[in-house]
Amino acid sequence: MGFAAAAERTAGNDRIVSINPATGMPLGDVPDMGADAVRAAVARAREAQREWIRLTLAERCQKVRRFSVELMARADQVIDLICKEGGKTRSEALGTEVAVVADLANYFSKHAPRLLSPEPIPLHLLRHRKSYVHYVPRGVIGIIAPWNFPFSIPMGEVLMSAIAGNGVVLKPSEFTPLIALESKKLWEAAGLPADLFQVVTGRGATGAALIDSGIDYCVFTGSVATGRKVAAACGERLIPCTLELGGKAPAIVCADADLDRTAQAIAWGGFCNAGQVCCSVERVYAHTAVHDELVDKVVALTRSLRQGDPTGSEEVDVGAMTWERQVDTVDDLVKQAVGAGARVETGGRRVPGPGLFYEPTVLTNCRQDMDVMRREIFGPVVPIMRVSSEAEAIELANDSHLGLLAYVFTRDRDKGRRLAEQIEAGTVMINDVLNTFGCPETPWGGVKMSGIGRTHSVIGLRDLCELRHVNVDRVSLPKELWWYPYSRKKYRGMLAVMKKLLGSKRFTLT
Ligand code: NDP
Repeated sequence: MGFAAAAERTAGNDRIVSINPATGMPLGDVPDMGADAVRAAVARAREAQREWIRLTLAERCQKVRRFSVELMARADQVIDLICKEGGKTRSEALGTEVAVVADLANYFSKHAPRLLSPEPIPLHLLRHRKSYVHYVPRGVIGIIAPWNFPFSIPMGEVLMSAIAGNGVVLKPSEFTPLIALESKKLWEAAGLPADLFQVVTGRGATGAALIDSGIDYCVFTGSVATGRKVAAACGERLIPCTLELGGKAPAIVCADADLDRTAQAIAWGGFCNAGQVCCSVERVYAHTAVHDELVDKVVALTRSLRQGDPTGSEEVDVGAMTWERQVDTVDDLVKQAVGAGARVETGGRRVPGPGLFYEPTVLTNCRQDMDVMRREIFGPVVPIMRVSSEAEAIELANDSHLGLLAYVFTRDRDKGRRLAEQIEAGTVMINDVLNTFGCPETPWGGVKMSGIGRTHSVIGLRDLCELRHVNVDRVSLPKELWWYPYSRKKYRGMLAVMKKLLGSKRFTLT
């Protein structure tokens, strides 16, 4: 059977068919939910949230922790579905989806009581009063998710939202709805309140309806183009949002890099999840002193990769791509680059069907003005460019409208840090790739058009709350100095005090 065309994803008027991208076979179908159904889901989540916040934060953490226990008990079954619907390999489904969510649930269940406890703010001038901030649930969080990590991206946010005391409504990608519904089953099996977490399946219009349904915050992950629409819609309604958008991660390879490790990192960072990762190694700037040796190593590793249908086998390195249109985009970018003078060292072709496969591809002779070096590829293609210095590499790395992740390879960690701090990216990893999405402690997000705000970490957790400030007196005074009535005498007195306090040479900067 050939791969199902886009039209075949529609079953009847209002249902969407989910298809296994490695085989083209249908897996099931889900409703294409309209605005009324979305509003009803948000109302149910809001009702359940009113009960949920009666629990203490520690009690909520205890309950969310059960999700990871349930998840790990059923890990194989969940991995099966992730592989079937998304096309990724079993090792990737375990390492980048299931384990990431279980670890995140454990981490925040343990640490949220500390991370969300009220924080005093010492007042340096008005010392007779004191301030603190505290964190209050926002209400209902709307999560709009992409297809490339259909479990770990939304479920991390779902669990953090719940810990923070919110209800959640998730709109998964139309290409991976079954994983979202399985996540909901896991949630219920873990004994979490059924209505607190809702899944609304559908296409882009369902996502737009979610933003228009009275939610209190939106966490969006997806393309820059849709991110703009989401930001505009949230702005219109004055709903705060986090935007996690595209990436074009550069890898800078210095002349002193450990080339064996670097080549493996580039191969894994470029081809993991068939290159459909927002922080994939999307362009390599290799110092001319090591360029040729690096290319040889990356090409040899790439040729050794086994590509195929990952369902039911752990012996596959590169799985299927998830979306037919993405395969066309990758093919166009490679053809364009070759037309402009790039050389295909290995790969460079769509694999004949069934299924959506593109050969792991290494391009050399690349130039910065090629689309393959400028646009997000989102497929298994690693373009490599020769540079004559680290300074040139930094300049080229920063010559992008995107800034999610970046990578530096060097044996000299001090130099690595110096270079990392000059790169315009949300995260720079030295001698490693991709992994920090799996660290719940670290902030995830980009600069420039890669997004606004951060997920994960204390910042991501607190963003799922309203920050409220309380200012309270420490001693009882009959009145404040600056209250009515005003007078010349009071003015002179205040001026003298202010001069002493604010203009004193003894005031030290700390
Ligand atoms: P899209 O922007 O196409 O879609 C993302 C989600 O938005 C989907 O659920 C989609 O629904 C929904 N959507 C579409 N139109 C609207 C709308 N008008 N209003 C609200 N929601 C809408 O992205 P992809 O799914 O193709 O994901 C790939 C992109 O995501 C890449 O650019 C990648 O870099 C980025 N990404 C960023 C990450 C990060 O952490 N920064 C992580 C992972 C991916 P539907 O699918 O049904 O159309």
